[in-house]
Amino acid sequence: MLRVRDLAVGYPTSGPVLHAVTLTLTLPGPGLHAIIGPNGAGKTTLLHTLAGQLRPASGSIHLDGQDVTGWHPTTAARAGVALAPQGRRLWKSLTVGEHFATVRTTVRDDDRWSVEALLEMFPALAARLGHRADQLSGGEQQMLTIARALHTAPRLLLADEPTEGLAPALAAHIMTVLTDLPARGVTVVVALPHAAGAARAATVHLLTAGRLRESADTADTVTDTLRRHLTLTDAEPTEPAP
Ligand code: ATP
Repeated sequence: MLRVRDLAVGYPTSGPVLHAVTLTLTLPGPGLHAIIGPNGAGKTTLLHTLAGQLRPASGSIHLDGQDVTGWHPTTAARAGVALAPQGRRLWKSLTVGEHFATVRTTVRDDDRWSVEALLEMFPALAARLGHRADQLSGGEQQMLTIARALHTAPRLLLADEPTEGLAPALAAHIMTVLTDLPARGVTVVVALPHAAGAARAATVHLLTAGRLRESADTADTVTDTLRRHLTLTDAEPTEPAP
């Protein structure tokens, strides 16, 4: 179980971003957990805090009963928490194969996610093993980002807007891969900018302006309320009308 309680997180330059976020996620999960919210809602901030990359100002995070609030990213990685960051954050001059080799030094001794298994999951990468990251298409880069994270054999994968900028067919493929992961023992938390991609999620959590507004238990209860709330939030002007 992942329990987040009253989490407040901010940045020195932009002040408080997350406000009293309280969230409980079952781990291993019954399916995908989706955090949905418009740009700037704080989704990345939340995932980065869970991955130990940001220290909360207050509140707590417990993983299977253990207080992991403010843990170091390396500790999080060793505990089986992997982040597939937004914007892919690959090493441009390293090849696909070298990306796998690079994370191997930090992972637990567990070969559940061998490179072969990952290439089966993302066949497009198989022909690209010797290519540098900056020679890959956007879709291939996204696949590599997820494959690199899975190579660490995580039990919790945090995927930040994994379909951003991708053609619909490719985005659907990525979502299918992520949706299938819980059955293979990986709990997935995916941040998405809209409710549409979360249609197959088991639990959906709506974050707007740094606050958790709604949670739904199953895909069936991804209700109109959630969608309406998001639509209304999206429609809000960013500046007062003159
Ligand atoms: P997006 O979909 O646009 O990435 P998001 O929901 O993931 O949005 P965040 O990236 O967490 O939201 O951003 C939430 C707020 O925190 C925004 O106002 C943003 O400007 C601010 N922010 C994010 N990262 C930083 C940073 N490194 N330094 C300062 N402020 C930041």
